[in-house]
Amino acid sequence: MRVAIFSTKPYDRTFLSRAAASHGHELTFFEPRLDRTTARLAEGFPAVCAFVNDTLDAEVIATLSSGGTRIVALRAAGFNNVALDAAEEKGVTVLRVPAYSPHAVAEFSVGLLLALDRRIHRAWARVRENNFALEGLLGHDLHGRTVGIVGTGRIGALVARAYRLGFGCEVVAHDRYEVDDLKAIGVTYVDRDELIERSDIISLHCPLTPETHYLIDEAAIARAKQGFLLINTSRGALINAEAVIGGLKSGRIGGVALDVYEQEADLFFEDLSSEIIQDDVFQRLLTFPNVLITGHQAFFTEEALLAIAETTMGNIADEEAGKVSPNRVLSEKVAGKG
Ligand code: NAD
Repeated sequence: MRVAIFSTKPYDRTFLSRAAASHGHELTFFEPRLDRTTARLAEGFPAVCAFVNDTLDAEVIATLSSGGTRIVALRAAGFNNVALDAAEEKGVTVLRVPAYSPHAVAEFSVGLLLALDRRIHRAWARVRENNFALEGLLGHDLHGRTVGIVGTGRIGALVARAYRLGFGCEVVAHDRYEVDDLKAIGVTYVDRDELIERSDIISLHCPLTPETHYLIDEAAIARAKQGFLLINTSRGALINAEAVIGGLKSGRIGGVALDVYEQEADLFFEDLSSEIIQDDVFQRLLTFPNVLITGHQAFFTEEALLAIAETTMGNIADEEAGKVSPNRVLSEKVAGKG
């Protein structure tokens, strides 16, 4: 099948081309993000492959559909950037990669916490300047601290295990579904408010939904422990960044590590080192010594890219062959009926 790949980076070409070969797909790579201004590039392509910061709103779906596209293959797990109702209305099938390497994200998330609390990123910069002073680098033992995990799905469960079994932390969790294996190792499920109140470290691993939007807002920050650390590798809009700035200024928040940011589509995955960044909230976040930000990198391992490419190309092949894919994403309206 002819596939238009959007938001292409050199590593996408490498991994997707390799995976496409065994399915006989013909790939055309476009560097721009998919949005209203670029959707026409997909004219004549029955399949489009999109990434996390591509915009697939109703207008883009309509343009794709009128250009002959009937498959949208997301090379990602999250699908909050797709207007699923519009896709169903136009007969466009949306497929995703539900799991590729939960280890990649879980390990990165724990790495962020360690770097943030032990100031590893700041120490690295200092030592390069021959500054070996320890003042300002004081951290805490992780052992014995309470970590709150919001969302104990594939990634959250691995993170909970790492903190509980690897570091000997107390782990409290919140999810609609409780995982018996986690309870067996001493993870305690609590409601969201109790998790926020009890945690020294809050680590977010739930999807972005209306229910989880701004889960960390001014009220949550006020309720949380003095000096708590916040780690977000899930989706930017789980936290209200302006409220977080307030919490950092007052000292209620002891540190923040983010791999995702609500307005990241304007920033991440590009080299903007010679540009003037217009996002004042993001720029303010960067000024805090106790904030560590990475550019949506948690998934970025060789194993994950290989798995993403293979599942994405397999999804398109299955759809082409008329198979009903378990990786199809349905709107709540349709999923609810099924
Ligand atoms: P998953 O579907 O396996 O787990 C998500 C869990 O969240 C589920 O157990 C679900 O029941 C729970 N959940 C849903 N609503 C909730 C709520 N209101 N409160 C508490 N829990 C709730 O997903 P996953 O594979 O573990 O991925 C988790 C998130 O990580 C994804 O949604 C995605 O946004 C993000 N992610 C980020 C990267 C990255 O590179 N930074 C890569 C992959 C995934």
